[in-house]
Amino acid sequence: MPAKKAIMKLSLYNTLTRKKEFFKPLKGNEVRMYTCGPTVYDYAHIGNLRAYLFEDLLRRTIEHAGFKVMHVMNITDVGHLTSDADTGEDKMEVGAKRENKTAWQIADFYTKSFLQDMERLHIKHPSILCKATDHIKEMIGLISALEKKGYTYALKDGIYFNTTRLKDYGKLAGLRKEDLKAGARVEMVQGKKNPTDFALWKFSPAGSKRQMEWKSPWGTGFPGWHIECSAMSMKYLGTTFDIHCGGVDHIAVHHTNEIAQSEAATGKKFVSVWLHGEFMLVDGKKMAKSLGNFYKLQDLVDKGFDPLAFRYLCLSTHYRSQLNFTLEALEKARNTLRNINDFYLRLKDAIKASKKSTKDKKTLGKLKKASAELDSCLLDDLNTPEALSRLFSMIHLVNKMMEEKKADSASMKFTHDYMLKINGIFQFLRKTEKLAEAEKKLIREREKARKIGDYKKSDEIRGKLKKMGIIIEDTSQGPRWKKTKK
Ligand code: AMP
Ligand code: ZN
Repeated sequence: MPAKKAIMKLSLYNTLTRKKEFFKPLKGNEVRMYTCGPTVYDYAHIGNLRAYLFEDLLRRTIEHAGFKVMHVMNITDVGHLTSDADTGEDKMEVGAKRENKTAWQIADFYTKSFLQDMERLHIKHPSILCKATDHIKEMIGLISALEKKGYTYALKDGIYFNTTRLKDYGKLAGLRKEDLKAGARVEMVQGKKNPTDFALWKFSPAGSKRQMEWKSPWGTGFPGWHIECSAMSMKYLGTTFDIHCGGVDHIAVHHTNEIAQSEAATGKKFVSVWLHGEFMLVDGKKMAKSLGNFYKLQDLVDKGFDPLAFRYLCLSTHYRSQLNFTLEALEKARNTLRNINDFYLRLKDAIKASKKSTKDKKTLGKLKKASAELDSCLLDDLNTPEALSRLFSMIHLVNKMMEEKKADSASMKFTHDYMLKINGIFQFLRKTEKLAEAEKKLIREREKARKIGDYKKSDEIRGKLKKMGIIIEDTSQGPRWKKTKK
């Protein structure tokens, strides 16, 4: 029988209790986690991507701690209105009009684009990726259960959830009933009993046919936005599960309403731990197309950045702090990433070149301590900035010893293996790059020229390679190359 993986102690900040808590799954060592996915009516912007990177960090850290994760993410391909107050148009239909395509084509195109972004950022694919339009039956079932229990009422434009029927409505956001009544929304749906009541099912407007609509016991129409996440999460993860996440903008409305409708329907607690990622600002402002500060991942790639530099930038700020994105900060992240990779390659070469095994107990002890601290930082509510500072102290220590030719093989091997392990979370190490045959030939020719002292020719070839995006460095172990066009 394979040995059981040891479980490390993990603490996470729970939005529901407003406290950092030791994390313990509800069942054994398997963590059931749901993350709200994209509304696929347009490209994801880098703020959205920050949210998915935070969730990937969470999943990978939970796995690093020794748990198994069952991760469900939805794709909102219907029912997310342009306003949170149940007014406005369905975003999918807006996308369809904008691009003169069908809503189904829009959903398909932007889902693919989202999945490509996830892949480029090394975000793990969820265990289950589910589309709202494939789960209309489950949503109707849930609304029917709420209707039977007396939580719903019908208006001209849809079926609504009565939020005053729940004693603890708003507990996630710390919303107080008095404030809720006083703070009625401007865009109120006519006839709504309370400002916080929300649509479970919207009717297709009389006389017009929507592209996406379904028959229901209440009339033809489409689901409200929140119901999909309750229906799909409970279908795949059970009525009570461990973790649910999203961006902070989801606390007050979307997640609050998910809790209300799920707990009203089942009479059970919906989720144990809620985690929320802070927002990303761009140049200190909210991202908006009108401000010209609106970036997609492809925009950064077009500027010559590696998507992993963006991943690194996001992970270098704590997920509960706002992150101010600037191109200068991205440039810095790119340089740091290069330095980490350069060090890693030098380390690999030095390990290969070391002839005998040596062990400097003091250095090894310091490295082990720093790596244990790094783990503790990550397991302490995903404190990535502190974790990275421990990694840099390891790198500085070993780098200095390598420069002074004093590095012992045990310390180098330990650092190498630990970097590889922790790369499972950060994804900062580049895959070994490959050279084309013609590029390899040029490098061999340059080496030949250098060996016979023809430095004019070797410099010429070096210049040629540079123009092709390949930098050559001569080291004691021979020439080393790296690609600059990344
Ligand atoms: P949406 O497609 O609007 O549901 O958003 C997808 C995810 O991105 C959600 O988890 C949002 O909370 C999150 N999000 C939206 N804007 C930002 C932002 N500027 N910074 C960080 N997360 C964001
Ligand atoms: Zn959701």
